[in-house]
Amino acid sequence: MTALLHPFADPAKPEEGFIKIVRAKGTTLWDEHGKSYLDAMGSLWYCQVGHGNQEMIDAISSQLGALDTHHIFDPFTHQPAIDVAEAIASKCPMPDGRVFLGSSGSEAVDTALKLMRQYHRLRGDHDRQIIVRRTRGYHGTNWGGTTAQGIELNREGWGDLVPHFIEVDPDDIEDAARVFAEHGERIAGVITEPVQGAGGVFPPMDGYLEGLRKLTQQHGTLLCFDEVISGFGRTGSWFASQTYGVTPDLITFAKGVTSGYQPLSGVIVGRDVADVYESADAMLRTGYTYSGHPASCAAGVTNIGIIERDGLVERASHIGRRFDEAFSALTADGVLAGHRGVGAVRAAQVHDDAIGVRQRMLEHGVVVRPIGDVLSFCPPLTTSDAEIDTMVEVMVASIQA
Ligand code: PLP
Repeated sequence: MTALLHPFADPAKPEEGFIKIVRAKGTTLWDEHGKSYLDAMGSLWYCQVGHGNQEMIDAISSQLGALDTHHIFDPFTHQPAIDVAEAIASKCPMPDGRVFLGSSGSEAVDTALKLMRQYHRLRGDHDRQIIVRRTRGYHGTNWGGTTAQGIELNREGWGDLVPHFIEVDPDDIEDAARVFAEHGERIAGVITEPVQGAGGVFPPMDGYLEGLRKLTQQHGTLLCFDEVISGFGRTGSWFASQTYGVTPDLITFAKGVTSGYQPLSGVIVGRDVADVYESADAMLRTGYTYSGHPASCAAGVTNIGIIERDGLVERASHIGRRFDEAFSALTADGVLAGHRGVGAVRAAQVHDDAIGVRQRMLEHGVVVRPIGDVLSFCPPLTTSDAEIDTMVEVMVASIQA
């Protein structure tokens, strides 16, 4: 046992039971024994540009050499924070909005929840506190995100969570319509991933996101898309909002914004919400020490530039098609029980124990993530066709073993 307490792990598991990763390049990871693995999960749903990208490393170290760190609370600012906010805004469906910065997806989510509630108060409506969440949703592990999750096991055991949350069926828009009919005037906002990721990779049912948009507009309520996984090219557009053609009021992002080279997250605040804040004549009393950390912002700017220049958004669609073709054939053959996904985030449904299959895949050098009865795939957007084919072959061999 070492001092290290691992997140989302059994606290009693000895350190020797973990795979110690020592090096990474492109889509390949190496452990301390020199064994290589294909990283079919882009670490934890985030490594868009692949590992060991020298441009990223140079941009971060050159930023550290120029300005290692400084905060951006009033009265300070710095260029990397301005630049990354502009770069993010220019790619999102609300380009005239504003961008708040944090470090983790959980920070982004909790900030978005606070902003949604305060928006109504600033407009003189103090009765709107309810946040609507969806079953299967994952929104991080701070208090707001823990409460906003639709994964019950993650909400249990922490004592009282944040009040005024209502859960709706993740696929049936009529359930949300019933909640709005009953509570509409007290709902501050809805938070949802456009494609649910950590809950098992569930793209939305046809019309579901449009239905949420309609309900929120009819009831004067805000809609926040949590794009922590789906942002920055993953679904074949810069944001899944664009893939599905539904523009929310707020977007939370993290992960792919820097491909994970530095921690960076944030909330994109659409123009209507920004107008209310800008005309409120009150300070925004929320933020983090590392909101706009220069090295993270430099990583974000460079990462967005690489995704754009190297056509990785389009590449996500190509990766998605290749998985889709392979998984469709395997489903037709009965090897898989089914599959789902969008762009380069995919789930293969197995007939038996997904954890066992994952274990055998690890032994054969491919990292996937088991969730319920699926194996999830979210590889770097630089992954080659040959690497995708190896991931699929190893999965099949591990299922049939
Ligand atoms: N929101 C979504 C949709 C996520 O997938 C995650 C993490 O997987 C989070 C929020 C939380 O992000 P973090 O782990 O960086 O706090």
